Amino acid sequence: MQNSEITRLFEELADLLEIQGENPFRIRAYRNAARTLGDLPESVSQIVADTTRQLEDLPGIGKDLAAKIQTIVTTGTLPQLEELRSVVPAGVVEMLRVPGLGPKKAAALFQQLQVTSLAELKTQCESGAVAKLKGFGAKTAQSILEGLAHLEQAGQRLYLAEVEPLAEELLAHLRRVPGVTRVEAAGSFRRRRETVGDLDLLALASDSAGVMQALAGHPAVEKVLQQGETKQRVRLKLGLEMDLRVVPAESYGAALQYFTGSKDHNIVVRQRAIERGLKLNEYGLFRGETRECGATEEEVYAAVGLPWIAPELREARREFDWAISGSLPTLIEPGDLKGDLHMHTTATDGAGTIREMIEAALARGLKYIAITDHSQRVSMANGLDAGRLRKHWAEIETIRADYPHIHVLKGIECDILEDATLDLPDDVLAEAEWVLAVLHYGLKQPAAQITRRLMTAIENPHVDAIGHLTGRLIGKRPAAEMDLPAVLQGMAQQGKWLEINAHPARLDADDLTVAQARELGIPVVINSDAHSVQGFEVLKYGVYQARRGGLSAADVMNTLAWGEFHRRLQRRRRADH
Ligand SMILES: [Zn+2]
Ligand SMILES: [Zn+2]
Repeated sequence: MQNSEITRLFEELADLLEIQGENPFRIRAYRNAARTLGDLPESVSQIVADTTRQLEDLPGIGKDLAAKIQTIVTTGTLPQLEELRSVVPAGVVEMLRVPGLGPKKAAALFQQLQVTSLAELKTQCESGAVAKLKGFGAKTAQSILEGLAHLEQAGQRLYLAEVEPLAEELLAHLRRVPGVTRVEAAGSFRRRRETVGDLDLLALASDSAGVMQALAGHPAVEKVLQQGETKQRVRLKLGLEMDLRVVPAESYGAALQYFTGSKDHNIVVRQRAIERGLKLNEYGLFRGETRECGATEEEVYAAVGLPWIAPELREARREFDWAISGSLPTLIEPGDLKGDLHMHTTATDGAGTIREMIEAALARGLKYIAITDHSQRVSMANGLDAGRLRKHWAEIETIRADYPHIHVLKGIECDILEDATLDLPDDVLAEAEWVLAVLHYGLKQPAAQITRRLMTAIENPHVDAIGHLTGRLIGKRPAAEMDLPAVLQGMAQQGKWLEINAHPARLDADDLTVAQARELGIPVVINSDAHSVQGFEVLKYGVYQARRGGLSAADVMNTLAWGEFHRRLQRRRRADH
């Protein structure tokens, strides 16, 4: 069983209990457990299977939770969960996905209007019934309708980070099947899009029935939906459908190119084939009836006069211009990162102490980090006022002296308030070694005000970088609206750096914004926003987003060795004073 499946069950349990109005402490314990397991780099199932290991050794996992995890791993569910599911329809839990609709409101809608699905919710909002409910009103009904529209747009896609571990496991599983020489995932997964709607696997195998049998037998597969000679469609327990195609060696490259997409990219590639009197399809590149090539992607691209193009760039944006002019960027790799400039500790809402975070960063091979706890506005996360922040920094100074092999910056994640002022005074910010300015609240303000807020931060000499630029949570909360060209222009002029927040739900700034930042020469940093010692695991998703934006290692400041990074940061700061 995948960690993400266990996480999902705990999230569902917490949702159900919340709808039932249960004890908030227990609910939080389940949510924290979900987060701990979700962040965990190793398989929980394996820990359970290993008699020398104890689940209780994991942070935040007590006796009760350990027993529940054990039950989930061995039975696939929990009696308590099954009981709750029988009382609260799945459609009611689904309502929690509507932005701004919490468990209390979902419970009220269920109990008073018998709403049990998103479709019914929409009808009741439109009929005016929701507006009449106590505690709702016309404004709430309207915002629920907007939330529903946003959800529809997002569709049934999972975060890349939820799918990648399972996809890798399935690929490894199939590679072990005798007679299999190659297996790869194509589609938007290979292009490292931030969400995945379904999976496409391609295999090169001497015995196609054997590969399909191996896939059907994998515990992550819920059901075989379709099976032919060379194609199999399955439903995964994770909630995705997946196609496996077994293709002949002479077609492998053409098929990989075809199924990787994007559609728009492939239209251009096919057009170039036609211009050369060729025909390109998933079976190969043909002149009349004769196959010219198709075994590798490289030869397919070469035949249409192009160098091989990295999958992340295949969106019909700039890649063809670059390819033709010989200026395709050498994209950044996950291993290029040497630092991480955004993380939290127990001083605010992190689960690790300063020491634990430093040691975890060291263990990952990072050479420098910035500790950036929250400022006071984020009271929910116990944000720091000037006094507590100075004490926190003093503590960092003492502790970092014990770690000569890593540089630790005294940082702050400073809120940009709704009234376009910063959450901490300039004299405090001046003492920081790294200031990340961010929007957390008032994300629905008009574009002009959001822009004004960001410009305040950009014009403040102490601010080094703008974190999670738009505040979006993919599929849950839309990006704040702003005059993006003006914001980026301002950042370029003021020498500010732009963060790619690597959290799988954020990946903010997104690929298009990052591409624009590259054009403007805005330096980028890729940060984990780690809230625990496992939180660094997500860094690679930030790197994928950077690749989709066409970034090389040289565009990303935290690929630099410490000495050069520090010089760049000092230069940035001097220019600003
Ligand atoms: Zn934040
Ligand atoms: Zn943060």
